[in-house]
Amino acid sequence: MNQDNRNIFADGEIHHECGVFGIYGVPDAANLTYYGLHALQHRGQQGCGIVAVNPDGQLKRVKGDGLVIEVFNEGNISKLQGNMAIGHVRYTTADCKGEENIQPFLFRHGTGDFAMANNGSIVNYSRLRSELEDRGSLFCSSSDAEVLAHLIKKHGADSSRPRIEAIIEALKQIDGAFAFVIMTRNRIYACRDKYGFHPLALAKLGDGYVVASETCAFDVLGAEYIRDIEPGEIVTIDHHGIRSSCYSAPERHAMCAMEYVYFARPDSDIEGCNVHNYRKESGRILFRESPAEADIVIGVPDSSLSAAQGYAEASGLPYEMGLIKNKYIGRTFIQPTQSMREKGVKMKLSPVKTIVKGKRIVLVDDSIVRGTTSKKIVSMLREAGALEVHVRIASGPLKTPCYYGVDITTLDELISSRCTPEEVCKMIGADSLAFLSHEGMLKAGHRSDLCLACFNQKYPTDLYGKE
Ligand code: SF4
Repeated sequence: MNQDNRNIFADGEIHHECGVFGIYGVPDAANLTYYGLHALQHRGQQGCGIVAVNPDGQLKRVKGDGLVIEVFNEGNISKLQGNMAIGHVRYTTADCKGEENIQPFLFRHGTGDFAMANNGSIVNYSRLRSELEDRGSLFCSSSDAEVLAHLIKKHGADSSRPRIEAIIEALKQIDGAFAFVIMTRNRIYACRDKYGFHPLALAKLGDGYVVASETCAFDVLGAEYIRDIEPGEIVTIDHHGIRSSCYSAPERHAMCAMEYVYFARPDSDIEGCNVHNYRKESGRILFRESPAEADIVIGVPDSSLSAAQGYAEASGLPYEMGLIKNKYIGRTFIQPTQSMREKGVKMKLSPVKTIVKGKRIVLVDDSIVRGTTSKKIVSMLREAGALEVHVRIASGPLKTPCYYGVDITTLDELISSRCTPEEVCKMIGADSLAFLSHEGMLKAGHRSDLCLACFNQKYPTDLYGKE
């Protein structure tokens, strides 16, 4: 499975839901946000937006459905001026469609306009929204992020109260995974949940600062990484510089394991660990746990290539380019019939016949969702002349849904929720199949803790009746 294979493998994908970006104290902030969002595009391709504070103090917004390069153009982005902006890229879930759900949200209020964008999912959202609606709040979207705005306003009704106090009180009421950027006309607040589910990092750019879901967005701007926002921390950025506050003591440190395994770009560093290095190490450990008698190692492009390199390095087997990805199939590639949909896999991924013919192959992939994609790839490799295909997965069997902002929503989607690895092996037509252990997933990042809930059912938060 690969995160760039969205439409072709639409039946077997995990989707992330967003990436956030904020910039303070740098000229042409909106243009730089455009570049930052472009670097975060892999985190969400279905909608994006930017809000900037124009020199007259007005918050202006441009947003729309589609990729960053589709939504923004010289005409609309030129309306976003000034040296402060926040932005967002998103993946749309079934219950959260419609332009009203595209972030950043922009709120007009007598005590001061503000904008916000979030990556994550608030698990006690339904309860909070009902309570707020019962007290007269009117929501303009079905996004859980909007609830924070109402809570901030509730706790900030007294306009003489510092806004940070209202934000702290509001954050204390929400539970789950979040990485918020909140912008007023003179400040940006970057807030991370107390479990640290999703990454959020801080960098310096000239006289100003940048926050982003991933450090790859800093590199594109030449910004210098300072540190990650800590779990439970709020970083305030304004003309005084940066200040840190806590809304909560950190809970168990539960960074989403799938950020390392699959979502994040390999050139990003998350909490001191480079994503490519994590994946390569996971491949080395995978070999030590589950060696295979084979001639070559290949990976499913692109997100599994680092793990395949690690597996090859540890095994001493040659690492080969056994599958090639066609990079020029867009999101709107048309496959009107079932037979064309079947061909879709071949149009997206092709085996290199000269490499795989007559070989015993180790095929490394990052995860198995429904198993349909793995089945197609194994069958393609056999058609191309592979003698044996040993599938090795650089993560554990995915067994239960995620409630923290990743679109693994139903048990039916997950083949490992109802089948043993032996049954999955048979179903995908492989000669052998092995998954990385949970210990291996931790060890690859030299970590003692990660969220592994969709693998081991140990959810770090209360689920408020969602399970
Ligand atoms: S449940 Fe899985 S996808 Fe969700 S945050 Fe935890 S590790 Fe990540």
